[in-house]
Amino acid sequence: MSSTDVRDYPLEKVRNFGIIAHIDAGKTTTSERILYYTGMSHKIGEVHDGEATTDWMEQEKERGITITAAAITCFWSPTWSVGNKDLTAKNKHRFNIIDTPGHVDFTIEVERSLRVLDGAIVSFDGVAGVEPQSETVWRQSDRYHVPRICYINKLDRTGASFDKSYNSILDRLSKSAARMQLPIGLEENFEGIIDLVSMKAYYFSGVMGDEITVKDVPADYVDAAKKLRTELIEKVSETDETLMMKYLEGGEFTVEELKAAIRKATIECKFFPVFCGSSLKNKGVQLILDAVIDYLPSPKDIPAIKGINPETDEEIERPADDNQPLTALAFKMMSDPFIGQLVFFRVYAGTIESGSYVYNPRTGNKERISRIVRMQANKREEVKKVYAGEIAAAVGFKDVITSDTICSEENPIILEKIFASEPVIALSVEPKTRADQEKLGMALSALGKEDPSLRIQADAETGQTTIAGMGELHLEIIVDRMKREFGVECNTGKPQVAYRESILGEASAEGKYVKQSGGKGQYGHVWIKMKPLERGIAKEDLPKNVKRDGENFEFINSIKGGVIPNEFIPAVEKGAKEAMDRGVLAGFRMVGVSIEAYDGSYHDVDSSEIAFKLASMEAFRDAAKKAKPVILEPIMSVEVVTPDQFYGDVSGNLSSKRGQIEGMEERGVNKAIKAKVPLAELFGYVTELRSMTQGRANPTMEFSHYEVVPKNVETEIIKSRAQ
Ligand code: GDP
Repeated sequence: MSSTDVRDYPLEKVRNFGIIAHIDAGKTTTSERILYYTGMSHKIGEVHDGEATTDWMEQEKERGITITAAAITCFWSPTWSVGNKDLTAKNKHRFNIIDTPGHVDFTIEVERSLRVLDGAIVSFDGVAGVEPQSETVWRQSDRYHVPRICYINKLDRTGASFDKSYNSILDRLSKSAARMQLPIGLEENFEGIIDLVSMKAYYFSGVMGDEITVKDVPADYVDAAKKLRTELIEKVSETDETLMMKYLEGGEFTVEELKAAIRKATIECKFFPVFCGSSLKNKGVQLILDAVIDYLPSPKDIPAIKGINPETDEEIERPADDNQPLTALAFKMMSDPFIGQLVFFRVYAGTIESGSYVYNPRTGNKERISRIVRMQANKREEVKKVYAGEIAAAVGFKDVITSDTICSEENPIILEKIFASEPVIALSVEPKTRADQEKLGMALSALGKEDPSLRIQADAETGQTTIAGMGELHLEIIVDRMKREFGVECNTGKPQVAYRESILGEASAEGKYVKQSGGKGQYGHVWIKMKPLERGIAKEDLPKNVKRDGENFEFINSIKGGVIPNEFIPAVEKGAKEAMDRGVLAGFRMVGVSIEAYDGSYHDVDSSEIAFKLASMEAFRDAAKKAKPVILEPIMSVEVVTPDQFYGDVSGNLSSKRGQIEGMEERGVNKAIKAKVPLAELFGYVTELRSMTQGRANPTMEFSHYEVVPKNVETEIIKSRAQ
């Protein structure tokens, strides 16, 4: 980096965060308010831009989607919340707000967005408190060590309770949470917010709540505020021995000390500060923005990103530093109507410049970035260079897909692959018209690049296209997006469960492919032993003659004395692997099989690769029939939160779906039932549950594992496949 080449923003003034929430907890409303408050510069400076903001929001609303850009950039200065709207403020911070999907059905999407953000605002409905999806996402955030601040929204609603909602956080998410604020009044009397750190009361007025008055804590709230402040200090002190000593010795904390302690504990995920407000009534959002600056990490505060050197398989760490080799992750693709395909990426280390070439270790190709843009609420800002810790979007990539690493050829790195599980459900899609037919392929290929959990299969024989994914809702949304974004109308078939086949026993079998009629003949002959593949063995612990393809297929070469010449062994392996595509019971893909080739013979002239491959396929099929073949089905982890009065009906219904009830918990006034249920029994479950409980029960489901289907179900499946 030359001396003139300085970052446009210091790293410690960058925040990459997302808002995560249960559907209806107010993510859209809160995001809109954030864009409004942070976009004050447009309001004041350029009227047209201001109008564009509104138009853009209207359009979003009409489409019924939460802010759809994968990442939006905006600015906030802590002084703005107290009315000092100095737009040139030195301590202005850059916020990159990363979109998080509202449906847990897209587990993969949630995981992907959690990976690229450094912190999150978790928003709750002040009436409902913690809801099932909030819990799922909370656990996922735990897995990725995402620091969180909690926001109890909608305190203006009838029935809202800050205390109850806060207690539901303690009961169900974490004991290490404490209130940072105290609402003044509730429901229709919700007037303002006391900040327990500074012990000041904030009142919001004006049409959009942007006139803020700071006053002393009202007399009748002083005792309650003091009590909660002590509780806050006590909880934060528990995270750090030095603080604890000071607290126990009766030491006073200054505002700065307290803020620093909360910041440290929050970033370490040892503490979760809880805020409150009403986004709709324009109360409190600015204080949340201050909290993002005060308590969520900058890219500097998080551990260095880890990756693998693709050449040596060694682990590499790259800290958020502009002078490191380029290390970036493509986390989302989007088609923009004006500039075409955008690839959103996060730079973890190094810098990236428009017009330069970057390396993609997945393809082994170098590609040129023609332009880099940053999405703002109302415009796309063209940028020349993006520095470590920042998020932006690239235009001009031809072969970069979601989850690809972008780096330099001299210093290649592959960032840990985003967790992706196998699709469990498939749907046939048939274009309605000829015109749709042409667009279908294009639409699916674009969507597939965006979403690695979506698989697209075209059956050459029937001409049918099938899409497979993570759940019923996932595929419904894909079909909907094809229509809305690409104008492709489709008829869809019935959702099909992605069954698999495997074996439970061991068997040996012989395969022989011999043809000797005039001319050059064919000769392949092999004996194989088949057994279930043993999982959980590290690559380096496997004997030399064992080759594994993931945890699904293993090939052991035990051929001795050249009874099959070495040159034909790969053909034997290939035959067995190809035979895995169609199981012997109902033609589903096989998983978890180990094949050992241990004997055979060859012919000097007639043996060929193709003959050994065909012999191996025959042996495979014969062995599979004898090795206790079974059909496996995907099992989902289901949780239903239901009012007490429907508990019996809901659990009875789950049991009738071959569900195993695993437990029940009290959730405040509700009951949470946890069960494992075969996916095949869950089609249309959301609708069924709603009508059974007058819409008052909420389900969440997530793929758990594959399990052998019972005999009677197996018979049914085989019968329906034969038709
Ligand atoms: P999302 O599904 O999480 O994006 O939630 P939305 O922002 O779309 O909000 C869901 C509903 O709750 C909408 O009807 C909002 O108007 C309403 N809402 C959002 N915030 C508040 C709030 O602070 N108070 C009240 N009373 N309603 C709110």
